[in-house]
Amino acid sequence: YSSTKKGYAPVRQNYEDFYTRRMYYRIHDCWNRPICSAPDAHIQVMERTPVSGQKALTLTGRVKECLNLGSYNYLGFAAADEYCTPRVLDTMSSLGWAMCSSRMDAGTTPVHLELEKMVAEFVGKEAALTFGMGFATNSVILPALVGKGCLIISDSLNHASIVTGARGSGAKVKVFAHNDVEHLEVVLRRAIAEGQPRIHRPWKKILIVVEGIYSMEGEMANLAGIVALKKKYKAYLYLDEAHSIGALGRAGKGACEAQGVSPKDIDVMMGTFTKSFGSCGGYIAADRELIQHLKHWAPGHLYATSLAPPAAQQILSAIRLLRGEDGSDRGARKLAQLRQNSDYFRGRLLDMGCNVLGDWGSPVMPLMIFNPGKIAALSRLCWERGVALVVVGFPATPLQTARARICISAAHTRKDLDKALEVLDEVTDVTLTKYLPRKPLMN
Ligand code: PMP
Repeated sequence: YSSTKKGYAPVRQNYEDFYTRRMYYRIHDCWNRPICSAPDAHIQVMERTPVSGQKALTLTGRVKECLNLGSYNYLGFAAADEYCTPRVLDTMSSLGWAMCSSRMDAGTTPVHLELEKMVAEFVGKEAALTFGMGFATNSVILPALVGKGCLIISDSLNHASIVTGARGSGAKVKVFAHNDVEHLEVVLRRAIAEGQPRIHRPWKKILIVVEGIYSMEGEMANLAGIVALKKKYKAYLYLDEAHSIGALGRAGKGACEAQGVSPKDIDVMMGTFTKSFGSCGGYIAADRELIQHLKHWAPGHLYATSLAPPAAQQILSAIRLLRGEDGSDRGARKLAQLRQNSDYFRGRLLDMGCNVLGDWGSPVMPLMIFNPGKIAALSRLCWERGVALVVVGFPATPLQTARARICISAAHTRKDLDKALEVLDEVTDVTLTKYLPRKPLMN
């Protein structure tokens, strides 16, 4: 499609209509049955279909017990836990369910303070600040860190919350090719040589923003290369660990631990509690001085209601468990199990001839479908066989690189994984999703 601002909207609209219509006919041709959708991503695709009567066929309210291959519940903490749950319930009875106040007013409890101390220690920084929502953490913190006269250099596949924060900051934003350290250097060098547009002054600050694990690619950031560049060009580095904290490294400390990079080399560490810790909210961890600055300058901290105390307690207890403070090695076993499950599943998918993205050790493994016309069929066939998949297509991915985003958990048993593999083996066979090349077939 056209990248010009004027041409973008109408052309994109045509593409969407074209593909959703075509998908509708394909599915009916192939399967000759109405579409019964269940996983959310699937429903969204269906509801955009312009063919009348389509909506009536989606069974959005249908409930069926399925093996969940789609949630980010990497360590299984989203379910009741013998260590975490009693503590969460205690906190709920002593502090209540919600604070109904911001941190600066009446929203701070000892649990919040303890959690921030624990998070800072866990990720290896001096101090931390917590927020009620992961998305909001990126979108309010980036504008508090940089503004007019600053430059953000962002990975091309960074999450929407980073894009929102970068756009709202007023800083100039440049994008480098996904995880491509050589291209990052080209962008840095060119940006420094050019300086601020029109006034030809140097940038006030340059902030490189990357993720620990990219949620649509399952790939880890090349941290060592990026840290070397940020030092060489005197830039700052912001790392979003939403998917890597509690999932990577022997102690679950994230991308730095997994890649042997010192947390001191990352200026701002961001993460969410909605994945490995089975709770809600997000954090920023950095030097004490920076956190102090954010306490006074980030409107999302000053004016937003604080994290619910039971949610904060859930995170605190999960981190304690990972650190072995419950007196057992259950936390360490969960981490080892996650890695073992992930590598087993990835290996078996590759052996089956599936095209899987991402790195070994990553619990996120996108199974490439490419053709958007297959999204609904793949999802529905798995659903019928008792496996819930999240399938992702345009506009979350480029048009021709649709995929099923599989997330593995330490809570999956070997039997679960084998059942899922059996279903995927059959379904990828039927939908001709095996033995696909690394690149889309159509162009
Ligand atoms: N950053 C990244 C990289 C994410 O993938 C997500 C959501 N999955 C977020 C931030 C937002 O986090 P939350 O869902 O906790 O709001």
